[in-house]
Amino acid sequence: MNSNDAPRNKIQPTKIYCARWVIPITGRTIEDGAVAVTGKFIASVGTRAELVAQFPEASSEDFGAAAIIPGLVNCHSHLELTAMRGYLEDVEGDFFAWLRKLTIARTTRMSEDDLRVSATWGALEAVRAGVTCVGDASSWGDASMAALRDVGLRGVVYQEAISPDERAADQLLSKLRADVARLRESENELWRVGISPHSPYTVSEKLLAGMTRYALDEKLPLMIHAAESEAEDELMKHGRGIFAESLARRGIEWRSPRMSPIQYLSTRGVLAARPLLAHCVRVDAADIELIKEAHASVAHCPKSNLKLGHGHAPFDKFRDIQKGFGSDSVASNNICDMLEEGRFATLLARLNRDEAGGEMYTAQQALKDATHGGARALGYEEQFGTLNVGAEADLAIVKLDGAHQVPVHDPSHALIFSSSAHDVALTMVAGREVYRDGQVTAVDEERLRARMGEIREKMMRDE
Ligand SMILES: [Zn+2]
Repeated sequence: MNSNDAPRNKIQPTKIYCARWVIPITGRTIEDGAVAVTGKFIASVGTRAELVAQFPEASSEDFGAAAIIPGLVNCHSHLELTAMRGYLEDVEGDFFAWLRKLTIARTTRMSEDDLRVSATWGALEAVRAGVTCVGDASSWGDASMAALRDVGLRGVVYQEAISPDERAADQLLSKLRADVARLRESENELWRVGISPHSPYTVSEKLLAGMTRYALDEKLPLMIHAAESEAEDELMKHGRGIFAESLARRGIEWRSPRMSPIQYLSTRGVLAARPLLAHCVRVDAADIELIKEAHASVAHCPKSNLKLGHGHAPFDKFRDIQKGFGSDSVASNNICDMLEEGRFATLLARLNRDEAGGEMYTAQQALKDATHGGARALGYEEQFGTLNVGAEADLAIVKLDGAHQVPVHDPSHALIFSSSAHDVALTMVAGREVYRDGQVTAVDEERLRARMGEIREKMMRDE
């Protein structure tokens, strides 16, 4: 398992992180394990004894009864909406009213600085939870990009465009191109720029086609919410329901395609861009086949789906699909905790399990989907998401000695069934410790906390 093949930076010293368990995801769990990090890369993985022998000069640190795992990946977030945690509960029984209240608050009550603070608090929450990479959809990508940069979190920022009115398509496309060009100036190996047509029903066919062409031409990652709610299904398949009524009220002509959201994305060529599809709650066997054939990915958001009353995705049928977990915004969750998301995914997969005796979805599979699966769903191949030698050092160290965890018979089971974000002791992105000893290292948490309080008061006052 040891190797000297890793890229080495001669100036950077090697540090060895040791713990009772190391879970590389692509290999077997190592007891009394260690991970050696040189610069931003994983230099070696093995037992503590092996690594100390391999790097006699290196400093080492022992985290005791803990597990070292690849960094958790949150495939679907809206960091800018973090200030709306708990703000929409009074309308959460009505998805249309929920979206409306959210949009009004974001566009009329939050300043650009509020959005940036909100996104930064979301990024801070993520690294505290052992998350090292997010797929973040943002109405103003600059806020998201700044948040990732300030906190040291990796991510894909999907600049969103939204309007069901065909007459707005050209203008929105021009704006999107300008936004993307600006955001791309910040791109590097940590931060990528993508685009997001919000959903099949909130963008016009013309805007959707233009964005798809743009994504294909520029090789931009594309994310879209799809097959999330009953209301969306009603509009797409039958041209009726609350969304159809709202469009008619606003005088917007929107022809129902009379097919499922996934069929629509397939026939309109969107699946050819291999999009990341958020939610996929209401998908049937034919839809799943289309997703699979297109090599598209799914961001599975079990808690958000349940909280908004959309139901649960047929996750047990997603076996052959590229997938990861998403928290969605904390307005519909209300936390970013990928271990808990994995727990919900596992329990719900078992609820759905074929009565004919389909295979049980396991904690090991959930850990893989929460790390390696998520990285691949976001379009990264082997750059991170495992503890493989030569991968970038994105990892989380999770304590496993709490009253709620002891005794630990199998660390994967303990992580998925007993642990949560609060148990994370250290988060590292590309070799940089971004969270440790209860502190997010790069930002002034108290200043941000005070600003979050101010934003809350402003939102309540203006209501
Ligand atoms: Zn979303």
